[in-house]
Formats: sequence, structure tokens, C-alpha cells
Amino acid sequence: MTETFRSGYVTIVGPPNVGKSTLLNRLMGQKIAIVTPKPQTTRNRLLGILTRPGTQMIFVDTPGIFRPGYPLQKAMVETAVRALGEADLALVMIDASGRHGDDEDRILRLLSEGGIVAVLALNKIDLVRDKKQLLPLIDRYHRTGLFREIVPVSALTGEGVADLLTVLSDLLPEGPQYYPEDMITESPERFLAAEVIREKVFLRTGEEIPYSAAVKVDEYKDRGDSLYIKATVYLERGSQKAIMIGQKGSKLKEIGQLARQELEAQTGRKIFLDLWVKVRRKWRHQTGDLRFFGYDGRR
Ligand code: GDP
Ligand code: MG
Repeated sequence: MTETFRSGYVTIVGPPNVGKSTLLNRLMGQKIAIVTPKPQTTRNRLLGILTRPGTQMIFVDTPGIFRPGYPLQKAMVETAVRALGEADLALVMIDASGRHGDDEDRILRLLSEGGIVAVLALNKIDLVRDKKQLLPLIDRYHRTGLFREIVPVSALTGEGVADLLTVLSDLLPEGPQYYPEDMITESPERFLAAEVIREKVFLRTGEEIPYSAAVKVDEYKDRGDSLYIKATVYLERGSQKAIMIGQKGSKLKEIGQLARQELEAQTGRKIFLDLWVKVRRKWRHQTGDLRFFGYDGRR
């Protein structure tokens, strides 16, 4: 008897801020995606490749699905919808502790129109004191007929995540090993480094600044005893640049330090991070700029 290999793309979709990226990191057992308390942190499609004996699960983290206002948001939602279209299995995520709005209806519609095999993860159950409160929620989604399984989880604490993994693994179709078994993601190191810097900008600035910020790594050089990374934070206005730099450069220094520490821990290398700030007016609204930053609705 020949052993069958099973594999597939498991696309994680849901409204913004429900914990999709936290779950990707939890499923992978390591941080790949950046996570912040602010909605719309994730802007690209990002893979987490989990290879086990007999299976390869390719988790696809995506931006949230919501009603987009400006071109960057349109590209983000397009990225998520496109990734859902390519899924072998959809992992839909809902915040079990929160309110439920229109965004969910659109997701349910996409599932039913696409005839996509789907599992629902009810996340953030650590915030739900009385677990009986989950029952009406489970019932409501069960009645849509769109989900093979409904699994309550906490991406933060890990509760229920092993069960979720089993459920997903059982639904994987037969297929080839798409990626080498030691490969955990497809993203280039310079993209991952830019994301870590962007996470620190999201965490350490307020108002519109995180949403006006994009990060590009300009140089990524191995100098033998250290890695030299030159990166630029792009903002939309001069006033934002001034805030981002801070009194005598204090803000930029703090953000740079946080990013460097994390990158050093991640790579196990000494890192020299050369961080710059530039203005690119209204880049969130310009197609050319979106393409420059890799926010073209494809990746
Ligand atoms: P995404 O926008 O869907 O990718 O959401 P993130 O993964 O960026 O998480 C958004 C926020 O929710 C962050 O502050 C996370 O720490 C938090 N979060 C994610 N999962 C859980 C969970 O299971 N429980 C709690 N309490 N918070 C969570
Ligand atoms: Mg995310």
C-alpha cells in the first residue's frame, strides 16, 4: 500500500483585528507575522509552511476583509479575497468576544459563492468568562451550513489550537509537497525585517501615523560579523515625519532599538540598523506608490 501525502493552502480570513496573524504565529510555533492591537496591521499575504510526516499545510495570513475606503485598503481587501479564492481550505476567524458586523456577511457570501470548504475558528475565548455564551454563536454559524467544523480557540493562550490543527489536517486534500520541508515561509528576509520595523511604528506612534507608514529595506548586507540593514520609513506628511523622528531623534531611536533587538533575537546575529524617514505624499492613494511598496492587491 502506498502512503498518501496530503497538502494544501489554508487561507486565514476574517474581519480586521480578530487575531488572524496571532493564530498564524501560534500554529507555526514561532513569530512570522507582525501583530499589534491596532486593526489593519497586516497588508500582505504571508505564508506559514508547516510540514509534518505525511502532510504539508500552507497557512496563508491575509489582511482583514472589510469595507475599504482608500486605494491601499482596496488593495488589502483584494489581497485577502484573492487568497481566499486560491484556498484549498478556508479558515474563517471571528472574535467570539466581540461584536459582529457587515464584514462577516461579505465573508460568508464569498464562501458560499466560491463553494469553499471552510472551518470556523471562534477566537479570543480567553475573554469569554461564561463559555455557555459560545453556544448561541456556534448555533448561528452552524445554521449557515457553510462550515465543516466550528472550533473555539484562543490564539493568544493556545487553548483549542491543537484541536483546530487536527480538524484542518483531517480536511486536507491529497496533494504534493509544495515546498522543501525546512522552509517555513516564502517571504524574503528583507520583507520580514521591514515588517518588524513597521510593527514597532504601529506600536509606538498614534493617530494616523501607523496607517500612513510604509517601510522599505534599502540594503540588507552580510558583513560577516554582523548584518547591515538600511531601511526607510515613509510617511505621508512632513508633520508626521517630525513626530516620527521626535525630540532630538528620540522616537526614531526608540523604534530603531526595538526593531533591532527583535531582529537580533530572530536571526541570532548582531545587527546594525540604519533607519531613515522620508515623506511620500499621499502614497496610500497612488497606484504607483502602492506597487512600489508591494501593496498591489496580489501579494
Ligand atoms: P489580525 O488583524 O486579525 O491579524 O489580528 P492580530 O493577530 O494582529 O491581533 C489583534 C489583537 O488581538 C492583538 O492585540 C492580539 O494580541 C489580540 N489577540 C489575538 N488573538 C487573541 C486571543 O485569542 N485572545 C485575546 N485576548 N487577544 C487576542
Ligand atoms: Mg493580521
